[in-house]
Amino acid sequence: MKKGLLLAFFFSLTLGFHPEMNAWGFHAHKTINRYAVFTLPSELFGFYKKNIDYITEHAVDPDKRRYAILEEGPRHFIDIDHYGSYPFPELPRVWEKAVSKFSEDTLIENGIVPWNTYKVYRQLVWAFSQKNVGRILKLSADLGHYIGDAHVPLHATKNYNGQFTNQEGIHGLLESRLPELFAVDYDFFVGKAEYIERPQEAIWNAVLGSAKLVDTVFSSEKMTGKNVSPQAKYAFETKGRTVVKQYSKAYSADFHARLGSMVEDRMRSSIVLLGSLWYSAWVEGGQPNLDQLAGIPEKEDAIADSAFREGKIKGRIEAD
Ligand SMILES: [Zn+2]
Repeated sequence: MKKGLLLAFFFSLTLGFHPEMNAWGFHAHKTINRYAVFTLPSELFGFYKKNIDYITEHAVDPDKRRYAILEEGPRHFIDIDHYGSYPFPELPRVWEKAVSKFSEDTLIENGIVPWNTYKVYRQLVWAFSQKNVGRILKLSADLGHYIGDAHVPLHATKNYNGQFTNQEGIHGLLESRLPELFAVDYDFFVGKAEYIERPQEAIWNAVLGSAKLVDTVFSSEKMTGKNVSPQAKYAFETKGRTVVKQYSKAYSADFHARLGSMVEDRMRSSIVLLGSLWYSAWVEGGQPNLDQLAGIPEKEDAIADSAFREGKIKGRIEAD
């Protein structure tokens, strides 16, 4: 094949992007949900261990819902820099207060991950109090997804894909490519879940922690660009039966090294916070005996699942 034709072939593959291909980015979410099970005390461990495959697989349901429901997108991020600068004292942490100060439309436009995550937590407390196994598992898996998103620095800035700093593509590089390449060496045994007295504050702290890292992420990638020749920045790699253009291993490794342990630390923090929130929701929900509960996990949302397969995302694309 002539070089030009070959390039055209590669481009058609890259442009023919299907969300299933995005599933590598799902790897980090599944890892967080899975390892959170191992933080749990014995009263919860048996129940979650029995359902660990469900909890793992359904870590990505909220991203699938983004293909079916327009309202889902803003639940995954917050452009917190819209509201001033760290630690954003002007932004009320309580939803109703934030609505009356900025209006619901403004909040939704700029993303609602901290408020929505807390809402899911409250729903989980309710599910425990009702001893509703289907809801407990569904909401536990969902909570893991949003906790994971809350820990990603690029889910906490309006420059979420480097579009304002000429760093387009950095979103997927940070949250998909780096874990895909390097998480194999991370240590995900993070210790024990602990009861959290102020879950709302804990969720906000996760988001604030992300916001604090945003500058480091961008400056590290700028330095990486200086160090690697433009030709070595991207590479074509085979994924199953498809060839895709993506950041090269050398470029990714350089960026990863400049970030130090950031990606590993954020994933570890997600795992321990998730386990702690499951545990705290169970305590708040009246500590039901989970070994005596009967029921099956809720089925995946069929509409979201088929919309995901069709592959037309609603709303902002880099907000997974
Ligand atoms: Zn997401």
